[in-house]
This record gives sequence, C-alpha cells and structure tokens, in this order.
Amino acid sequence: MSLSPERLDRFARHIVLPEIGGAGQVALAGKHLVLVGLGGIGSPALQYLAAAGIGKLTLVDDDKVEASNLQRQTLYNTRDIGHGKAVVAKRWVTGFDPALDVTISDRRITAENVGDLVTGADLVLDGTDNFATRLAVSDACVAERVPLLSAAVGRFQGQVGAFAGHLPGEACYRCFVGDAFDAEDCDTCAEDGMLGAMAGWAATFAALQAVRVLLAPLGGLGEPQWGTVFLLDGLRPELRNFRITKDPACSTCGHS
Ligand SMILES: [Zn+2]
Repeated sequence: MSLSPERLDRFARHIVLPEIGGAGQVALAGKHLVLVGLGGIGSPALQYLAAAGIGKLTLVDDDKVEASNLQRQTLYNTRDIGHGKAVVAKRWVTGFDPALDVTISDRRITAENVGDLVTGADLVLDGTDNFATRLAVSDACVAERVPLLSAAVGRFQGQVGAFAGHLPGEACYRCFVGDAFDAEDCDTCAEDGMLGAMAGWAATFAALQAVRVLLAPLGGLGEPQWGTVFLLDGLRPELRNFRITKDPACSTCGHS
C-alpha cells in the first residue's frame, strides 16, 4: 500500500518526522480504532485521531448533544443540540476527510453488546463517564485481546492510561480500579464541573498516546507503556505517572 499524492500532501507534517515517516502514515491508514464516548474526551480526541489519518473509526455514544456540552465538546455546534452525538460525529468526520471509513453505534453499551463493537480493532479509546461502562469495555478488550486506552477528566484533573490485560504480566483497567464499581453509579461531571480546556488536554494527550500505541510496532515512537497511568493536574499544572501491576486475583485478566 502506498499513499496518493493528495494523501502525501495532507500528511506531509507527519511524513517528514523520522519517527512516523511514510511507513507510519501508511500504517495509521490501515488501523481500526474504536472510540467509546463522544463527550469531553471523545470529541476533541476524534478531531486529532481523524486528522492523523487513522483509516477506520468506530464511534460509539448513545447520547444526544445538549447545550451544556458545548463548553468542552468541540465537535458540536449550536445547531447540533438535540441530535445524536454519533450521527453528528460521523457527519463531521465525513466532511473532514471522506477517505476515512466511519461506523457508528448509538446503542447504550452493555456487557452483552460491547464485545461485538471492539472485536478485531487495533485499539479502543474509552472516554466514557461511568465505571460500569468502563469496566464492561475493559473486560471486552481483554476477552477480544484488544489494547485499551482509558481516559477520564473531572474538575481540573485528567487521567490517561494504556492497558493490555490480555498479555502476560500486563494489568487491565480492572486491576487498576477493582470490582467495586460494577454497579451503575453517578460518576459524572454534571455535579462536579470541569474546566473545558482540561477535557481538551486529557483528550489530546489520549490521542497522542493512541498514535504511539498504534505505531509502537514500528519502533519510532517508543514503547506503549502498558499499565502506566498519567495524571494531568490543571491547577499546578503538572503531569505525573505511576505504574499499575497485574493483579493475580483480577477477575478479568488474572488468569492470562
Ligand atoms: Zn486485570
């Protein structure tokens, strides 16, 4: 596979980087990323993931655009209020780069349907806002042997971690948070608030990590850093990280 003159021009600033190059750009065009949640994380992340030329995107969200989303969910505009986020997001990608292959799902994620959404993907980026969904996505990623980037944001704090619990010795997201959050909960930003640009920082950092994970086999952008969670602190501001070790008793990945 090679890039057409139009694609070479479009991605010139990637291709000139020795860490990516033409081979990296061709690799990105052949990747399939599943983006779960098209809110504060998913919306800015999608703009950079699509701009990076990731060839196949599956966009998952069952919400509709609300006026209060517009403070940070940069994909949407006033006319989109009341419309389904997945449909609007697909329309945006198609207008932005018609060469990308976009599939959407506007069903609510459950433990039963999430496996079909992630199977065969190269990477899942989860930016949803509740633990029950996050754990269902993580469990499906381990079962389907798909790496997971998990990103969250609230108030002035963000958190982005890469997980590959299907690999020996590597933690999954459940190793990180445990089993206490499987029930429906109310871990949303509605009560706490959030600085809009914090969502953008966490989202674009997640998009950067997504490109690093997808291109890790080529070597130019380093290791995927499985199990490393980055904490983004917008008040100091500061970026810290720590590493999650695999929990041998993890109900999802403890046996892998
Ligand atoms: Zn685990």
